[in-house]
Amino acid sequence: MNHPLPEVCDGILLKQEAIESRVRELGESLVRDHTGHDLRLITVLRGGLFFLSDLCRATDMPVSLDFMAVSAYGPAASGSVRITKDLDDSIEGASVVVVEDIIDTGLTLHYVLEVLRRRGPASLEVCTLMDKGVRRIVDLPITYQGFRVPDRFLVGYGLDLDGMYRNLPYVATLRDEVMS
Ligand code: 5GP
Repeated sequence: MNHPLPEVCDGILLKQEAIESRVRELGESLVRDHTGHDLRLITVLRGGLFFLSDLCRATDMPVSLDFMAVSAYGPAASGSVRITKDLDDSIEGASVVVVEDIIDTGLTLHYVLEVLRRRGPASLEVCTLMDKGVRRIVDLPITYQGFRVPDRFLVGYGLDLDGMYRNLPYVATLRDEVMS
């Protein structure tokens, strides 16, 4: 599949092959750690969908999937988040892994984890493909991490710019001029 680099980008940060191979390793880690458990992979729509789809197929054991959607409100960086679509199934007693495309400040995920923790899962972990570490405001229990990424605006493999570029099979950096 040939997706040329969009004009708004200045380079590829994570090639398709690198993502595929890291996702395979993460799937193997999930199997190693969760065999025999009621494993639920939960993602927050929409960006995490692409990673979840590949990750669950790299996880060679019975697993079920569920989805949430949230929207931020109030002042930026206030961490105020509202659930706009809740999970379909109870997670009580389940081994829950929240699957994220990218974690930046961590505020969104922090809120989601608080909500899920109150529902009594046997365990609650995080698997993120990308981690922007340097901008983290809250401490998060990240058990599985694909890549540390720099503090640039990224698109592709689920990450969008105004709803576009999610379907790129790689992750690219946006030109600084486009950001400003
Ligand atoms: P946080 O609450 O951790 O600051 O924000 C996480 C969310 O911000 C991600 O799920 C993603 O939707 C968005 N995000 C963070 N960094 C980027 C980025 O570089 N590119 C895009 N397209 N979205 C990002």
